[in-house]
Amino acid sequence: MTVHDITLIPGDGVGPEITDAVVRVIAGAGVKVNWDVQHAGTDVFEAEGVPLPARVIDSIKKNKIALKGPVTTPVGTGFRSVNVTLRQELDLYACLRPCKSYAGARCVYPNVDLVVVRENTEDLYAGIEFQKDRKETLELIDFIASKTNKSIRSDSGISIKPISVFGTERIVRFAFEYAVANGRKKVTSVHKANIMKHSDGLFLEVANTVAKSYPDIEYEDRIIDNMCMQLVQKPELYDVLVLPNLYGDIVSDLAAGLIGGLGLAPGANIGGEMAVFEATHGSAPKYKGLNKVNPMAMMLSAIMMLNYIGEREAAARIDAAIASIIKEGKHVTYDMKPTPNDPTAVGTSEVADEIIRRL
Ligand code: NAD
Repeated sequence: MTVHDITLIPGDGVGPEITDAVVRVIAGAGVKVNWDVQHAGTDVFEAEGVPLPARVIDSIKKNKIALKGPVTTPVGTGFRSVNVTLRQELDLYACLRPCKSYAGARCVYPNVDLVVVRENTEDLYAGIEFQKDRKETLELIDFIASKTNKSIRSDSGISIKPISVFGTERIVRFAFEYAVANGRKKVTSVHKANIMKHSDGLFLEVANTVAKSYPDIEYEDRIIDNMCMQLVQKPELYDVLVLPNLYGDIVSDLAAGLIGGLGLAPGANIGGEMAVFEATHGSAPKYKGLNKVNPMAMMLSAIMMLNYIGEREAAARIDAAIASIIKEGKHVTYDMKPTPNDPTAVGTSEVADEIIRRL
Protein backbone atom coordinates (compact mmCIF):
# COMPACT_ATOMS: atom_id res chain seq x y z
CA MET A 1 0.00 0.00 0.00
CA THR A 2 1.28 3.49 -0.89
CA VAL A 3 2.30 5.71 2.00
CA HIS A 4 1.97 9.37 1.04
CA ASP A 5 4.39 12.01 2.33
CA ILE A 6 2.32 15.14 2.95
CA THR A 7 3.10 18.40 4.75
CA LEU A 8 0.52 19.26 7.40
CA ILE A 9 0.22 22.89 8.51
CA PRO A 10 -2.29 22.97 11.41
CA GLY A 11 -2.42 26.81 11.28
CA ASP A 12 -3.81 28.86 14.17
CA GLY A 13 -7.24 29.87 15.57
CA VAL A 14 -9.55 26.92 14.87
CA GLY A 15 -6.97 25.44 12.44
CA PRO A 16 -5.50 22.78 14.80
CA GLU A 17 -8.98 21.47 15.76
CA ILE A 18 -10.20 21.08 12.20
CA THR A 19 -6.95 19.65 10.85
CA ASP A 20 -6.91 17.11 13.70
CA ALA A 21 -10.46 16.07 12.74
CA VAL A 22 -9.42 15.67 9.09
CA VAL A 23 -6.29 13.66 9.88
CA ARG A 24 -8.43 11.23 11.90
CA VAL A 25 -10.95 10.87 9.05
CA ILE A 26 -8.21 10.19 6.47
CA ALA A 27 -6.75 7.51 8.74
CA GLY A 28 -10.25 6.11 9.28
CA ALA A 29 -10.64 5.78 5.50
CA GLY A 30 -7.51 3.60 5.45
CA VAL A 31 -5.25 6.03 3.57
CA LYS A 32 -1.67 5.82 4.83
CA VAL A 33 0.00 9.19 5.25
CA ASN A 34 3.35 10.13 6.69
CA TRP A 35 2.43 13.63 7.92
CA ASP A 36 5.27 16.13 8.09
CA VAL A 37 3.79 18.56 10.64
CA GLN A 38 4.99 22.14 10.16
CA HIS A 39 3.72 25.01 12.26
CA ALA A 40 3.13 28.51 10.88
CA GLY A 41 1.09 31.54 11.94
CA THR A 42 0.70 33.78 14.97
CA ASP A 43 2.15 31.43 17.62
CA VAL A 44 5.21 30.77 15.45
CA PHE A 45 5.58 34.53 14.87
CA GLU A 46 5.62 35.13 18.64
CA ALA A 47 8.13 32.32 19.26
CA GLU A 48 10.43 32.64 16.24
CA GLY A 49 9.88 36.18 14.90
CA VAL A 50 8.63 34.94 11.52
CA PRO A 51 5.16 33.51 10.77
CA LEU A 52 6.33 31.28 7.92
CA PRO A 53 9.78 29.80 8.64
CA ALA A 54 11.82 28.54 5.67
CA ARG A 55 11.42 24.95 6.93
CA VAL A 56 7.69 25.07 6.09
CA ILE A 57 8.37 26.08 2.48
CA ASP A 58 11.18 23.48 2.24
CA SER A 59 8.84 20.75 3.49
CA ILE A 60 6.20 21.58 0.83
CA LYS A 61 8.87 21.73 -1.89
CA LYS A 62 10.04 18.28 -0.81
CA ASN A 63 6.63 16.61 -0.42
CA LYS A 64 4.88 18.57 -3.23
CA ILE A 65 1.55 18.30 -1.37
CA ALA A 66 0.31 20.12 1.73
CA LEU A 67 -2.88 20.21 3.76
CA LYS A 68 -3.17 23.55 5.50
CA GLY A 69 -5.37 24.92 8.27
CA PRO A 70 -6.23 28.63 8.24
CA VAL A 71 -3.71 31.20 9.45
CA THR A 72 -4.58 34.58 10.96
CA THR A 73 -3.35 37.69 9.16
CA PRO A 74 -3.06 40.71 11.48
CA VAL A 75 -4.82 43.78 10.08
CA GLY A 76 -2.69 46.90 9.52
CA THR A 77 0.45 45.91 11.45
CA GLY A 78 2.24 42.61 12.09
CA PHE A 79 3.30 40.16 9.44
CA ARG A 80 2.44 39.76 5.78
CA SER A 81 -0.24 37.19 4.95
CA VAL A 82 1.19 33.65 5.21
CA ASN A 83 -1.40 32.57 2.66
CA VAL A 84 -0.40 35.13 0.02
CA THR A 85 3.32 34.47 0.69
CA LEU A 86 2.87 30.72 0.22
CA ARG A 87 1.01 31.20 -3.06
CA GLN A 88 3.70 33.53 -4.38
CA GLU A 89 6.77 31.62 -3.11
CA LEU A 90 5.51 28.32 -4.54
CA ASP A 91 3.89 29.88 -7.63
CA LEU A 92 0.56 28.23 -6.82
CA TYR A 93 -1.09 30.04 -9.69
CA ALA A 94 -4.50 28.36 -9.69
CA CYS A 95 -7.01 28.64 -6.88
CA LEU A 96 -9.60 25.93 -7.33
CA ARG A 97 -12.88 26.23 -5.42
CA PRO A 98 -15.65 23.73 -6.17
CA CYS A 99 -19.08 24.68 -4.80
CA LYS A 100 -21.63 21.88 -4.84
CA SER A 101 -24.94 21.87 -2.98
CA TYR A 102 -25.50 18.90 -0.68
CA ALA A 103 -29.07 17.74 -0.05
CA GLY A 104 -30.12 18.86 3.42
CA ALA A 105 -27.77 21.86 3.63
CA ARG A 106 -29.40 25.23 4.25
CA CYS A 107 -28.61 26.57 0.79
CA VAL A 108 -30.28 28.87 -1.69
CA TYR A 109 -30.57 26.30 -4.50
CA PRO A 110 -30.53 22.50 -4.41
CA ASN A 111 -28.71 22.02 -7.72
CA VAL A 112 -25.54 24.12 -7.68
CA ASP A 113 -22.40 22.42 -8.99
CA LEU A 114 -19.88 25.11 -9.85
CA VAL A 115 -16.10 25.11 -9.98
CA VAL A 116 -14.42 28.49 -9.61
CA VAL A 117 -10.90 28.68 -11.07
CA ARG A 118 -9.24 31.87 -9.86
CA GLU A 119 -5.91 33.21 -11.11
CA ASN A 120 -3.77 33.52 -8.00
CA THR A 121 -0.72 35.63 -8.84
CA GLU A 122 -1.63 38.74 -10.86
CA ASP A 123 -4.26 41.47 -11.10
CA LEU A 124 -4.88 43.88 -8.21
CA TYR A 125 -3.34 41.29 -5.85
CA ALA A 126 0.11 41.77 -7.38
CA GLY A 127 0.82 44.14 -4.47
CA ILE A 128 1.90 47.10 -6.61
CA GLU A 129 0.50 49.92 -4.52
CA PHE A 130 1.20 53.62 -4.29
CA GLN A 131 0.25 55.34 -1.05
CA LYS A 132 -1.52 58.72 -1.07
CA ASP A 133 0.79 61.76 -0.78
CA ARG A 134 4.04 59.77 -1.26
CA LYS A 135 6.64 61.29 -3.59
CA GLU A 136 6.58 58.32 -5.97
CA THR A 137 2.78 58.45 -6.09
CA LEU A 138 2.81 62.10 -7.12
CA GLU A 139 5.51 61.29 -9.71
CA LEU A 140 3.33 58.50 -11.09
CA ILE A 141 0.35 60.86 -11.29
CA ASP A 142 2.53 63.35 -13.26
CA PHE A 143 3.83 60.57 -15.52
CA ILE A 144 0.28 59.37 -16.29
CA ALA A 145 -0.83 62.94 -17.05
CA SER A 146 2.11 63.40 -19.45
CA LYS A 147 1.48 60.12 -21.28
CA THR A 148 -2.30 59.93 -21.38
CA ASN A 149 -3.67 63.42 -20.94
CA LYS A 150 -5.75 62.02 -18.10
CA SER A 151 -5.58 63.62 -14.69
CA ILE A 152 -5.71 61.72 -11.41
CA ARG A 153 -6.53 63.76 -8.30
CA SER A 154 -3.35 64.53 -6.36
CA ASP A 155 -4.84 63.12 -3.13
CA SER A 156 -5.29 59.64 -4.66
CA GLY A 157 -3.86 56.26 -3.68
CA ILE A 158 -3.16 53.96 -6.63
CA SER A 159 -3.22 50.16 -7.07
CA ILE A 160 -1.86 48.69 -10.30
CA LYS A 161 -3.65 45.87 -12.12
CA PRO A 162 -1.27 43.78 -14.27
CA ILE A 163 -2.71 40.91 -16.34
CA SER A 164 -0.30 39.08 -18.65
CA VAL A 165 -0.64 36.76 -21.63
CA PHE A 166 1.51 34.19 -19.78
CA GLY A 167 -0.58 34.31 -16.58
CA THR A 168 -3.89 34.22 -18.44
CA GLU A 169 -2.90 31.45 -20.80
CA ARG A 170 -1.85 29.09 -18.01
CA ILE A 171 -4.93 29.71 -15.84
CA VAL A 172 -7.37 29.30 -18.74
CA ARG A 173 -5.54 26.17 -19.88
CA PHE A 174 -5.74 24.89 -16.27
CA ALA A 175 -9.54 25.45 -16.29
CA PHE A 176 -9.99 23.55 -19.56
CA GLU A 177 -7.69 20.71 -18.46
CA TYR A 178 -9.68 20.48 -15.22
CA ALA A 179 -12.91 20.34 -17.25
CA VAL A 180 -11.56 17.54 -19.46
CA ALA A 181 -10.17 15.51 -16.53
CA ASN A 182 -13.37 15.82 -14.49
CA GLY A 183 -15.99 15.30 -17.18
CA ARG A 184 -17.17 18.91 -17.10
CA LYS A 185 -19.10 20.29 -20.06
CA LYS A 186 -18.56 24.04 -20.14
CA VAL A 187 -16.03 26.75 -19.27
CA THR A 188 -17.08 30.39 -18.84
CA SER A 189 -14.45 33.15 -18.76
CA VAL A 190 -15.41 36.17 -16.67
CA HIS A 191 -14.12 39.73 -17.18
CA LYS A 192 -14.93 43.42 -17.53
CA ALA A 193 -13.30 43.80 -20.95
CA ASN A 194 -15.77 46.48 -22.03
CA ILE A 195 -14.21 48.89 -19.50
CA MET A 196 -10.62 47.63 -18.87
CA LYS A 197 -9.64 46.93 -22.46
CA HIS A 198 -5.94 46.29 -21.86
CA SER A 199 -6.11 44.07 -18.75
CA ASP A 200 -9.50 42.34 -18.82
CA GLY A 201 -9.56 42.76 -22.62
CA LEU A 202 -6.30 40.84 -22.82
CA PHE A 203 -7.68 38.18 -20.45
CA LEU A 204 -10.72 37.72 -22.70
CA GLU A 205 -8.71 37.63 -25.93
CA VAL A 206 -6.28 35.02 -24.58
CA ALA A 207 -9.15 32.96 -23.10
CA ASN A 208 -10.95 32.98 -26.47
CA THR A 209 -7.78 31.73 -28.16
CA VAL A 210 -7.07 28.96 -25.62
CA ALA A 211 -10.70 27.82 -25.85
CA LYS A 212 -10.20 26.96 -29.54
CA SER A 213 -7.82 24.12 -28.54
CA TYR A 214 -10.68 22.43 -26.63
CA PRO A 215 -13.47 21.99 -29.19
CA ASP A 216 -15.21 19.32 -27.07
CA ILE A 217 -15.78 21.70 -24.16
CA GLU A 218 -18.45 24.39 -24.58
CA TYR A 219 -17.06 27.88 -24.06
CA GLU A 220 -18.58 31.30 -23.46
CA ASP A 221 -17.68 34.54 -21.71
CA ARG A 222 -19.60 36.77 -19.31
CA ILE A 223 -19.11 40.28 -18.01
CA ILE A 224 -18.55 40.12 -14.23
CA ASP A 225 -21.59 42.14 -13.15
CA ASN A 226 -23.93 40.11 -15.35
CA MET A 227 -22.21 36.93 -14.10
CA CYS A 228 -23.00 37.81 -10.46
CA MET A 229 -26.65 38.39 -11.26
CA GLN A 230 -26.91 35.17 -13.27
CA LEU A 231 -25.22 33.12 -10.53
CA VAL A 232 -27.80 34.34 -8.03
CA GLN A 233 -30.72 33.74 -10.41
CA LYS A 234 -29.77 30.60 -12.35
CA PRO A 235 -26.54 29.02 -11.13
CA GLU A 236 -27.49 25.70 -12.73
CA LEU A 237 -26.55 27.16 -16.14
CA TYR A 238 -22.86 27.34 -15.15
CA ASP A 239 -20.15 24.75 -14.73
CA VAL A 240 -16.45 25.78 -14.63
CA LEU A 241 -15.76 29.53 -14.28
CA VAL A 242 -12.30 31.00 -14.92
CA LEU A 243 -11.57 34.48 -13.58
CA PRO A 244 -8.78 36.97 -12.89
CA ASN A 245 -7.70 37.17 -9.25
CA LEU A 246 -10.05 39.80 -7.74
CA TYR A 247 -13.26 38.68 -9.47
CA GLY A 248 -12.32 35.09 -8.58
CA ASP A 249 -12.02 36.02 -4.92
CA ILE A 250 -15.44 37.68 -4.84
CA VAL A 251 -17.28 35.12 -6.99
CA SER A 252 -15.92 32.18 -4.97
CA ASP A 253 -17.47 33.67 -1.82
CA LEU A 254 -20.72 34.29 -3.71
CA ALA A 255 -20.69 30.64 -4.82
CA ALA A 256 -19.92 29.51 -1.24
CA GLY A 257 -22.95 31.52 -0.09
CA LEU A 258 -25.13 29.73 -2.63
CA ILE A 259 -24.29 26.29 -1.24
CA GLY A 260 -24.66 27.02 2.46
CA GLY A 261 -21.71 29.13 3.57
CA LEU A 262 -18.07 28.86 4.55
CA GLY A 263 -18.51 25.65 6.53
CA LEU A 264 -18.94 23.79 3.23
CA ALA A 265 -16.54 25.61 0.89
CA PRO A 266 -13.30 23.74 0.12
CA GLY A 267 -10.30 24.94 -1.87
CA ALA A 268 -6.90 24.21 -3.31
CA ASN A 269 -3.98 26.31 -4.49
CA ILE A 270 -2.26 24.48 -7.31
CA GLY A 271 0.96 25.16 -9.21
CA GLY A 272 2.95 23.32 -11.86
CA GLU A 273 4.54 20.94 -9.35
CA MET A 274 2.95 21.56 -5.98
CA ALA A 275 -0.48 21.90 -4.40
CA VAL A 276 -1.71 23.23 -1.05
CA PHE A 277 -5.23 22.22 -0.01
CA GLU A 278 -7.15 24.43 2.41
CA ALA A 279 -10.70 25.51 3.22
CA THR A 280 -11.93 28.87 1.94
CA HIS A 281 -12.70 30.11 5.47
CA GLY A 282 -10.26 31.77 7.87
CA SER A 283 -9.08 31.02 11.41
CA ALA A 284 -12.33 32.18 13.12
CA PRO A 285 -10.30 33.23 16.24
CA LYS A 286 -13.37 33.74 18.45
CA TYR A 287 -14.09 30.00 18.26
CA LYS A 288 -10.51 28.87 18.94
CA GLY A 289 -10.36 25.85 21.27
CA LEU A 290 -14.15 25.59 21.64
CA ASN A 291 -14.63 22.42 19.52
CA LYS A 292 -17.43 24.28 17.76
CA VAL A 293 -16.77 25.05 14.09
CA ASN A 294 -17.62 22.92 11.09
CA PRO A 295 -14.72 20.76 9.89
CA MET A 296 -16.50 19.84 6.64
CA ALA A 297 -14.93 22.56 4.46
CA MET A 298 -11.52 21.30 5.53
CA MET A 299 -12.63 17.70 4.94
CA LEU A 300 -13.92 18.54 1.47
CA SER A 301 -10.51 20.16 0.79
CA ALA A 302 -8.90 16.91 1.95
CA ILE A 303 -11.18 15.00 -0.46
CA MET A 304 -9.83 17.20 -3.28
CA MET A 305 -6.32 16.31 -2.08
CA LEU A 306 -7.08 12.58 -1.99
CA ASN A 307 -8.41 12.76 -5.56
CA TYR A 308 -5.29 14.69 -6.57
CA ILE A 309 -2.97 11.99 -5.16
CA GLY A 310 -4.99 9.17 -6.73
CA GLU A 311 -6.87 7.98 -3.60
CA ARG A 312 -10.19 8.33 -5.43
CA GLU A 313 -11.99 5.45 -3.74
CA ALA A 314 -11.27 6.73 -0.22
CA ALA A 315 -12.23 10.25 -1.33
CA ALA A 316 -15.60 8.99 -2.63
CA ARG A 317 -16.30 7.11 0.63
CA ILE A 318 -15.59 10.18 2.79
CA ASP A 319 -17.72 12.34 0.47
CA ALA A 320 -20.62 9.86 0.71
CA ALA A 321 -20.36 9.82 4.52
CA ILE A 322 -20.40 13.63 4.66
CA ALA A 323 -23.35 13.79 2.24
CA SER A 324 -25.37 11.35 4.36
CA ILE A 325 -24.65 13.30 7.56
CA ILE A 326 -25.70 16.59 5.94
CA LYS A 327 -28.86 15.01 4.54
CA GLU A 328 -29.83 13.65 7.96
CA GLY A 329 -28.99 16.98 9.68
CA LYS A 330 -28.38 15.40 13.09
CA HIS A 331 -24.60 15.16 13.63
CA VAL A 332 -23.82 18.63 12.30
CA THR A 333 -22.29 21.79 13.81
CA TYR A 334 -24.21 24.94 14.79
CA ASP A 335 -23.83 26.61 11.39
CA MET A 336 -25.82 23.84 9.70
CA LYS A 337 -28.70 23.85 12.16
CA PRO A 338 -31.84 25.97 11.56
CA THR A 339 -30.79 28.36 14.36
CA PRO A 340 -27.23 29.07 15.59
CA ASN A 341 -28.06 28.25 19.23
CA ASP A 342 -29.67 24.90 18.46
CA PRO A 343 -28.83 22.71 21.49
CA THR A 344 -28.59 19.59 19.29
CA ALA A 345 -25.56 20.94 17.39
CA VAL A 346 -22.49 18.75 17.80
CA GLY A 347 -18.82 19.81 17.99
CA THR A 348 -15.95 19.62 15.50
CA SER A 349 -14.54 16.32 16.79
CA GLU A 350 -17.99 14.65 16.99
CA VAL A 351 -18.52 15.35 13.28
CA ALA A 352 -15.24 13.54 12.59
CA ASP A 353 -16.30 10.61 14.84
CA GLU A 354 -19.57 10.28 12.94
CA ILE A 355 -17.89 10.38 9.52
CA ILE A 356 -15.45 7.66 10.62
CA ARG A 357 -18.34 5.56 11.92
CA ARG A 358 -20.03 5.72 8.48
CA LEU A 359 -16.96 4.99 6.34
P1 NAD B 1 -13.32 33.59 9.06
O1 NAD B 1 -13.61 32.77 7.86
O2 NAD B 1 -12.22 33.13 9.93
O3 NAD B 1 -14.61 33.68 9.98
C1 NAD B 1 -15.74 34.48 9.73
C2 NAD B 1 -16.95 33.85 10.40
O4 NAD B 1 -17.39 32.77 9.59
C3 NAD B 1 -16.64 33.21 11.75
O5 NAD B 1 -16.74 34.12 12.80
C4 NAD B 1 -17.70 32.14 11.82
O6 NAD B 1 -18.92 32.74 12.22
C5 NAD B 1 -17.83 31.71 10.38
N1 NAD B 1 -17.00 30.53 10.09
C6 NAD B 1 -15.77 30.49 9.51
N2 NAD B 1 -15.36 29.25 9.39
C7 NAD B 1 -16.32 28.46 9.90
C8 NAD B 1 -16.46 27.06 10.06
N3 NAD B 1 -15.52 26.19 9.68
N4 NAD B 1 -17.59 26.59 10.66
C9 NAD B 1 -18.54 27.43 11.05
N5 NAD B 1 -18.48 28.75 10.92
C10 NAD B 1 -17.37 29.27 10.34
O7 NAD B 1 -13.07 35.08 8.54
P2 NAD B 1 -12.45 36.35 9.26
O8 NAD B 1 -13.01 36.45 10.65
O9 NAD B 1 -12.61 37.44 8.31
O10 NAD B 1 -10.90 36.02 9.35
C11 NAD B 1 -10.23 35.56 10.53
C12 NAD B 1 -8.76 35.45 10.22
O11 NAD B 1 -8.54 34.43 9.24
C13 NAD B 1 -8.17 36.73 9.62
O12 NAD B 1 -6.92 36.96 10.22
C14 NAD B 1 -7.99 36.42 8.16
O13 NAD B 1 -6.94 37.11 7.57
C15 NAD B 1 -7.69 34.93 8.22
N6 NAD B 1 -8.00 34.20 6.96
C16 NAD B 1 -7.18 33.17 6.65
C17 NAD B 1 -7.44 32.42 5.53
C18 NAD B 1 -6.51 31.28 5.20
O14 NAD B 1 -5.70 30.89 6.04
N7 NAD B 1 -6.58 30.73 4.02
C19 NAD B 1 -8.57 32.68 4.73
C20 NAD B 1 -9.42 33.72 5.12
C21 NAD B 1 -9.12 34.46 6.24
